[in-house]
Amino acid sequence: MKKIALEEHFITSDFLQDTQKVDFAGMNPEDAADFQTRLLDLDDLRIKAMDEAGIEISVLSLTDPGIQGIADTNLAIKLASKTNDFLAKKIAKHPTRFRGFACLPLQDPVSAAKELERCVRQHGFVGGLINGQTQGSYLDEEKFHPFWKKVVELNVPIYLHPGNPQHIPANYKDHHELAGPLWGWSVETGTHALRMVFSGLFDRFPSVKIILGHMGETLPYLLWRLDSRWKIIKQPKKLQKSPSQYLKENFYVTTSGMCSNGPLTCAIQELGEEHVMFSVDYPYESSKIAAQFIEQAPISKIVLQKICYDNAHSVLNLKT
Ligand code: MN
Repeated sequence: MKKIALEEHFITSDFLQDTQKVDFAGMNPEDAADFQTRLLDLDDLRIKAMDEAGIEISVLSLTDPGIQGIADTNLAIKLASKTNDFLAKKIAKHPTRFRGFACLPLQDPVSAAKELERCVRQHGFVGGLINGQTQGSYLDEEKFHPFWKKVVELNVPIYLHPGNPQHIPANYKDHHELAGPLWGWSVETGTHALRMVFSGLFDRFPSVKIILGHMGETLPYLLWRLDSRWKIIKQPKKLQKSPSQYLKENFYVTTSGMCSNGPLTCAIQELGEEHVMFSVDYPYESSKIAAQFIEQAPISKIVLQKICYDNAHSVLNLKT
C-alpha cells in the first residue's frame, strides 16, 4: 500500500553547530548516535527506509526542539530561514519523494507568518511544524493571531509536535523518565491543543487545521468527558460548539510512534476515518514496523487507503 508519512524528522549539521543542541536527553548513547546519523541523512539511508515501508512521500520537519528551543529571537529567525532553504534544496533533489513542513520562529509571530508564507509560496512547502511551546508561549495567545490569519490565508495545516514545557513540572520530581516522550509530551501537547480549543481560537479562525502525532496525544479517548465536564464548570469563555466538536473538525491525528490497534480504533471512531493519517516518526521509530502495523490493522481496504494516502493528499493539498 502506497503511503504518505507526515512526522519525519531531519537535522542539519549547520543547525547542530549553531545551536549545539538536539534533544537526545535521557536516550541511550548508542540510540542517540544512530538517530543523529539518520537525522543528518536526507538521501540514500532515508529513501531506503521509505522504500522498505512503501512510503512514497515523506513530509520532512526539523527535529525537536528545533527553532522553538532558541532563546534569541534574531537567531531563531535567521536559523529558521537557513534551515528551510536547506530543506527546499533537498526536496528539489528528490522532488517525487520529499515534501516540507516549515520550521517557524514564533519568538516573533509576524516573522513566523512571513516565513511560512515565503516557504509555501516560494518553496512549495505544505505547511508548518511547531515543536510545542516557544519560549513559554502557547499558540492560543492573542499575540499569535497575525500568524493564524496567515495560516488561514495560505490554507495549509500546522503540525503541533510535542516539546517539553519551559520548566519541568513538580509532579515529575524524582521521575524524570516520565517527563519526556514516555508520558510528559502527551500531557504537554494535549494541554496545548486544549488551550487552543478552549481559547475560542477555532471560533475566530474556523478553517485552521491542526495535526497531532502519536494518535492524538490521548485526546481521542477523552472527547465525551471533555464535553460532560465543560457543561458543569464555570466557563471562562463561551464557545460556539462543544469542545469535542472542535477536536473532530479542526484536528487530524497521525499514527506516528503508536503502533497499536486499540488507540487506532478509538481515533477512527471518535474523530472519523478522514481525520487519521499514517506516519512513522522517523528516525525515532521503525518505518517497517509502522508500515506492518497499519497494513495489518483491523480496518477495511477503503479505510486503509484513506489513512495511508488519501487523507494526507487532501489535507496537504497535494496536486500530484
Ligand atoms: Mn516526532
